[in-house]
Amino acid sequence: MATQAQLRQYLSHWFQLGKGVKIAQDEASYCPSNIAYGSGYSPEFEAHWQKFQLAGLERCYLEDTGETLAELSQSDWDIQSCARCDMPVALKVGGITPLDCPCSDQSNWPNLELPTPKPPQNWNERIRSIGQRLKEK
Ligand SMILES: [Zn+2]
Repeated sequence: MATQAQLRQYLSHWFQLGKGVKIAQDEASYCPSNIAYGSGYSPEFEAHWQKFQLAGLERCYLEDTGETLAELSQSDWDIQSCARCDMPVALKVGGITPLDCPCSDQSNWPNLELPTPKPPQNWNERIRSIGQRLKEK
């Protein structure tokens, strides 16, 4: 079962590759261009997340995938790393690993020369731990 935090992280990775979320029959795909702001998600990401929630997660799905966000929050789905590219992908618990990771249509993927998509970093925490390490020396 994907928690809300996992779902948001899952989406944030794919948004960074330009994959958006589709809402029901809507032709548009919604993909914020800014994901992180400070150590959290950007207001743009939050606005998108709110839009999906208002539309109903049972009507939203990541582009090129077949499962709705509501289905991913149920107990028979899990979010794991893709064997090919390490991106988070949705897997059916106890089912057969699908070969159709949304990465499969990216021709030069995985691309190790590009920085990989990351969830927002907790910079305060990191700076504190660096300061801590310096003090110890
Ligand atoms: Zn993949």
